[in-house]
Amino acid sequence: MSPALLLALATTVVTLGYMVACRIWPYAACVTCDGAGRHRSPSGKAWRTCRRCRGTGARLRVGRWLWDLARREFGRTRDPR
Ligand SMILES: [Zn+2]
Repeated sequence: MSPALLLALATTVVTLGYMVACRIWPYAACVTCDGAGRHRSPSGKAWRTCRRCRGTGARLRVGRWLWDLARREFGRTRDPR
């Protein structure tokens, strides 16, 4: 097996694995608040909701965002809602 074919095969396997992982676990921790959903004041007693994730602490993963986009764009004929 040639190195180029092996590289292409490895890339395909990694990409498919990532897509499956994004289907099963679509969310990751918010980058801004690190999944806490809130920002603490310097005193540590007061806090406010994280604006980026609106307090959920979750962020949609890039793979899942692309999956949803593809479903919206190409899935219209199969899903007549
Ligand atoms: Zn956040």
